[in-house]
Amino acid sequence: MNPTNINVFKSYGESGIARWGAPTIAAKYGAVAAMVRSMAINPDDYPHTGVTVYNDSFPKIPAVAISTNDANWLSHQLKMKMQLTVFIQTNCMMLPDAPSFNVAGEIRGSEFPNEIITVGGHLDSWDLAEGAHDDGAGCVQSIEVIRAIKANGIKPKRTIRAVMFMNEENGRKGGDKYLELAEANKEKHVFALESDEGGFTPRGFNFTSTEMQFEKIASWQKLLLNSGIDYFGKNGGGADIDPLKKLNTVLADIAPDTQRYFDIHHAATDVFENVSRRELHLGAANMAALIYLVDKYGL
Ligand SMILES: [Zn+2]
Repeated sequence: MNPTNINVFKSYGESGIARWGAPTIAAKYGAVAAMVRSMAINPDDYPHTGVTVYNDSFPKIPAVAISTNDANWLSHQLKMKMQLTVFIQTNCMMLPDAPSFNVAGEIRGSEFPNEIITVGGHLDSWDLAEGAHDDGAGCVQSIEVIRAIKANGIKPKRTIRAVMFMNEENGRKGGDKYLELAEANKEKHVFALESDEGGFTPRGFNFTSTEMQFEKIASWQKLLLNSGIDYFGKNGGGADIDPLKKLNTVLADIAPDTQRYFDIHHAATDVFENVSRRELHLGAANMAALIYLVDKYGL
């Protein structure tokens, strides 16, 4: 990934095709397998993996990710024009779909129970890791929003619902189902906040809303300055809540400091020990504060 972008997600967006698209392109030119350099910046020994998309017109060749250290070593060997033979053994397979569920808990609104404020993360993780940051952190923070509101004796006017979405990584079926149920139950979804960029120190929030709504939201920014939030930006949302766009819901995401996110993303290093309790709390507290403001003043 390009290390010169301060926004690491920009680099991920630019480089991602090497993982999800390269195997098909390689197959088109006769490759028997594809090896992809991990989507990571740090030199490490942990392959960072993720979704790969095949095209039915070409053979579905095996594709593996190799760590940045191994990729550097391989690149060095190739530059020395050594004849290399690579042995690849994989044991991944696609299993048939099986039933699974979104998990939700809520505090019913005291005045407008049919107006829903959603806060969520996703319950599934990429299979080689625990998914402690991606997205255990977002799930725990969403539950913590509910707990904090309750613990402070706040009786929200609107219904505040914490949702742990299922199947974000492999097709977003949970997010789509959530929209389907919202429509079937004629719920009014006023606001949705997602946490899915790791449980790191919070820096800001991003929002997708009308200009008028954004002005109102922006007026609250100073209230969060003392708890570490530096900016309110635009183009907010996340994979799981994006389907709610159809209902004109104001969408938001918490933007933590992501410089270390791709040290762990979809790698065996995304484990509980690598989550800072302090940073996780800071994010959750700011999320709770934002949800409180949205409920109190409306949009
Ligand atoms: Zn995620």
